[in-house]
Amino acid sequence: MSTVSLNGLSHAYENTVSPSVHPFNLFIDDGEFLVLYGPSGSGKSTILRMLHGLEAPKTGSILIDGLDVTHAAVNDRDVTLALESYALYPHMSVRDNLGFALRIDGLPAEEIAARVESVAEKIGLSAILDAVPGDLSPLQRQTIALARAIVRQPKVLIMDEPIVNLVPEHQADTVRLIKDLQQDFGLTTLYATANLADAKVLADRIAFLDHGRLIGVEEPEVAEALV
Ligand code: ADP
Ligand code: ADP
Repeated sequence: MSTVSLNGLSHAYENTVSPSVHPFNLFIDDGEFLVLYGPSGSGKSTILRMLHGLEAPKTGSILIDGLDVTHAAVNDRDVTLALESYALYPHMSVRDNLGFALRIDGLPAEEIAARVESVAEKIGLSAILDAVPGDLSPLQRQTIALARAIVRQPKVLIMDEPIVNLVPEHQADTVRLIKDLQQDFGLTTLYATANLADAKVLADRIAFLDHGRLIGVEEPEVAEALV
């Protein structure tokens, strides 16, 4: 059960004239896939960075499962950013890549092994746990990059334009993969994109951003380009 409540949240970078994000309210339900959609500079990354704990809000609060994490440290809020596949460690096996963050988190070795095996089995990676990323296809590497976030069992998963650096023929596959895994694991997810077609495929709801303002929240079936 993980909900996210953003209340009167706003942000301004130092030494800038206008706010990067104007005050807004948004509630993301347990297991919901919420897409932040808008052009470059509309405030998507800044909102995700506030949720992650990398930027402090100017006003407002962030509640995760009703708990106020507005000023909590990055490691104390159970929000995980899924990184792109080039962030995998090339010389480490898939198994060690998946377990890496859990070792940093200080989990016991048996629990790390159990979690890695369980996620790998669910995703269909069991047969390649001992391979290194270089031996695998781009889509397998994407899968591992996502699995590495999922294995941490975060309350909230965030992704910031995760497919923009992929060649076009891998983008659609990766979008489907992201949607499938998010549904399988029931993760509450926030995903930033400037691509409305991707937003419609992925989202339960789309939050439209324009010049730092939340200008509407729509279900994908009825979403028209507001920006
Ligand atoms: P994105 O659209 O993915 O946020 P940008 O190209 O807008 O990427 O920004 C790339 C980097 O430059 C980010 O780290 C962002 O914080 C920084 N940046 C963007 N706009 C400014 C600005 N006006 N002043 C300083 N840094 C900026
Ligand atoms: P998006 O992710 O939608 O591209 P951002 O959150 O990166 O939007 O940017 C929102 C606004 O904040 C933009 O006007 C951008 O130029 C500005 N901005 C982003 N990063 C910085 C930064 N490090 N310093 C100053 N301004 C920034």
